[in-house]
Amino acid sequence: MTVTSRITAQAASPEHPANGVERGFVDLQDVVLAAHRLDALAARWPERKLLNVAVLRALLLLVQREPGQAEEGFDAWAIAAAVGTVIGRKWATGDTRDEISAKVRDQWQRLTSQTWPKKEEGIHQHFRDSGLNLVPTLSREEGGGQGNPTRYRFRLQHLPESDAGGTEQDEVGTVASAVSGRAPEQDVPGRDARVTYICEDVEDASWLARSFAQGFQLAGWRRLALRSAFILGILTVALMALLIPLTVVTTRSPGDIANAVFSAVVFGYAFWSTLGTLLMLHRWRIALAPWWMQSVDDDRLVEWRCPPRHADKSIKAVRYAARCPLCGGKVVACSGGMRHSWRIVGRCEEAPAAHVFAFDHVLREGHRLL
Ligand SMILES: [Zn+2]
Repeated sequence: MTVTSRITAQAASPEHPANGVERGFVDLQDVVLAAHRLDALAARWPERKLLNVAVLRALLLLVQREPGQAEEGFDAWAIAAAVGTVIGRKWATGDTRDEISAKVRDQWQRLTSQTWPKKEEGIHQHFRDSGLNLVPTLSREEGGGQGNPTRYRFRLQHLPESDAGGTEQDEVGTVASAVSGRAPEQDVPGRDARVTYICEDVEDASWLARSFAQGFQLAGWRRLALRSAFILGILTVALMALLIPLTVVTTRSPGDIANAVFSAVVFGYAFWSTLGTLLMLHRWRIALAPWWMQSVDDDRLVEWRCPPRHADKSIKAVRYAARCPLCGGKVVACSGGMRHSWRIVGRCEEAPAAHVFAFDHVLREGHRLL
């Protein structure tokens, strides 16, 4: 760990050649460090047991062993052998060379089409926040004929300036301590503590919530479906509300009136809890996700994303987490409760009532609230 933090601290310092170089030259040391970091991240993903993640980790292992080869890429057989090291048992060993390369290709396809797109934003932010202005990319170069096999590559790319997101306030010290996993040293730990949130993808989403976890594009039939759901809901609630004066006029029986009021309240509440947050989203830009997108923790948020900050209009289910600077616990953005009603705050899992931070989803940071 100490070695890692020293390298990162160097990489972040202005004297280091990798900073400020526009494109092209990337230090081999950075490649090894980035592979190491990404591997540490991947080892904690909930999908870590999947074979396609094992293929990614195998590639990262090879990169760390032979960083000079990373640019050219590694062939399927080297990757298959390294997968064995990653998962701790032999993989695809009894197969012919063609079968092995087909298996690796298949897993790579899954990795780049399913797992990587979900993780990419979090990975970028993680790299950015640790002061490395490089982000990892995966690519595959199709081989042709004998002696020219398909190659799988892990490369580093410089972050475009516009993508740099948060402010450039990372000092070397902060970077080094963030890398070593400790909270940044502060003179008086307490009031002026700040957190930096990282956007995590929503895991194990239900089938209904899954399209939101991947970003619900507000275009075409999806837009129409969402709009229809809203209109249907509003109409139902309005109809129920209309029934109240109607029963008052027609029956005058207190029991029937109470029934009408009760059902209007029930329908109104059902509508609000199911779609209400999505309705408010246009105004607030971020809100707690409705119950049907939540899992046990109730820490899922929905974010309204639109140009110019994002490429297109979409609603995305997200989760924001940070490391608590007071105790090192995990801070998760969730409901503000009674004390901070109508707000989303970051609460430390170790001390949910005491370690509370503001939450700004645009700057992705917050100061201490209590
Ligand atoms: Zn804490």
